[in-house]
Amino acid sequence: MPIVDGYGRRLSTLRIAVTSECNLRCVYCHREGEVYDSDRRGDASIDELLSIVGIGVELGLDRVKLTGGEPLLRRDIVDLVSSIHGLKGVEEVSMTTNGVLLSDYAYKLAEAGLKRVNVTVNTLDRDTYRMITGFDLLHRVLDGVESAIEAGLNPVKINMVLLKGMNEDDILDMARYAAKVGAILQVIELERAGVADGWVYDRLHVPLDRVEDLLSRISVDMYYRGIHSRPRYILPDGVEVELVKPMHNPDFCRYCDRLRVTSRGELKPCLLRYDNHVDILKAIRSGADREYLRKLFLEAIARRKPYFL
Ligand code: SAM
Repeated sequence: MPIVDGYGRRLSTLRIAVTSECNLRCVYCHREGEVYDSDRRGDASIDELLSIVGIGVELGLDRVKLTGGEPLLRRDIVDLVSSIHGLKGVEEVSMTTNGVLLSDYAYKLAEAGLKRVNVTVNTLDRDTYRMITGFDLLHRVLDGVESAIEAGLNPVKINMVLLKGMNEDDILDMARYAAKVGAILQVIELERAGVADGWVYDRLHVPLDRVEDLLSRISVDMYYRGIHSRPRYILPDGVEVELVKPMHNPDFCRYCDRLRVTSRGELKPCLLRYDNHVDILKAIRSGADREYLRKLFLEAIARRKPYFL
């Protein structure tokens, strides 16, 4: 039976940051809502993550999304995917990656049971990519997207965070690229979190209204997709463009189906809240039994409160 929180929201996804390490330095990164400190304790092991996922599955969370940092920096990432995929009750394992290492891993991940990937490609312009990420690696990322599609990690979604003065006029180019390679374009509004808190957010945030207007004018169809009920537009060449509007949008919270696990192994009820984590990895490392871990999960679920009501 799927578990429902105090606001009537059904939980189905565990979003796990499997490492805090990253090989890019994106100027806007929310770091999955993590605040780094010096109290690092090392990434959770595969067995520790399996304990966490196992309890999630018992409570009805049957989808797992692996994120980071950059998940492909974990040396055991293929084993991790295959172990989670092998857990009874897990319906889908997916990943969000910056794509830099994806061409090396796409086939191995598909074989291990990874169903699909989101790849972060904010621009097709080499200089802008370097400006956003700090590295001249766009070519590697584009190779990664193609490898993922060839390996069948479909639907491949291109994550494009809209950034003022950087890529806000690139929607149509990105949509053409998605159509060419056979991917879905996901345009994401910048969230105020992590590096993108304070002045970075003020400087780079741009509402998606203009994109919405543009897509409404040129699309041939539109619907609200899936659990998250996000607007998805179908363009004349068949490519689909989905909008993610997290800021000041009660619907974003209303349809939130996820519980996060930080790279420190804490259950994190909400991306934008920093003060309500439940430290499940500490409990696992001090030998807590399954019943106690289940209680921690229920506590984290009880702490889920919509950020935008
Ligand atoms: N390194 C991986 C990647 O690039 O996909 C996984 C971690 S990254 C934090 C996950 C996704 O969050 C990426 O698509 C990234 O662009 C997006 N993201 C990061 N900071 C964001 C922010 N402030 N607002 C919206 N999306 C953000």
